[in-house]
Amino acid sequence: MLCPACNEKMVILELEDVEIDYCVHCGGVWLDGGELEMISRRAAGEAAVGLVPGGKRGRRRCPRCRKRMRVTHFEGSTVEVDACPRGDGVWFDRGELEAVLRESGAGGTAEVVRGFFGRMFGGAEESGRDGEQVSRQGAEEVAR
Ligand SMILES: [Zn+2]
Ligand SMILES: [Zn+2]
Repeated sequence: MLCPACNEKMVILELEDVEIDYCVHCGGVWLDGGELEMISRRAAGEAAVGLVPGGKRGRRRCPRCRKRMRVTHFEGSTVEVDACPRGDGVWFDRGELEAVLRESGAGGTAEVVRGFFGRMFGGAEESGRDGEQVSRQGAEEVAR
């Protein structure tokens, strides 16, 4: 699958048994419909975060169906994200996923996500390696 922001091939990461598509070039994350819910539900007893329907027409296209995505936000959050109008999934630019989870009160989940990405990015910064090598350390690359 290609990154909706920079058109580069994304890698698939496993976070708490949920597969997420991650772009090593821009640090963005794609979550298929329902995956964000699964991640937020993992945090003990936290309610799933809901996406506000509608939103304005965005620039980017859904990596699944190529339809133009909508710029919207989650309930209780001010962070703008791109969402497929058909519900295929949601695109988060670098740092937006963490911000959304933090703002929506899914504190435990935010910790999980921060720990996960912290390891990846932390490793990259310490070693000064590029994103491709980080993806091999932190995740299994899967061709789609
Ligand atoms: Zn990208
Ligand atoms: Zn779509």
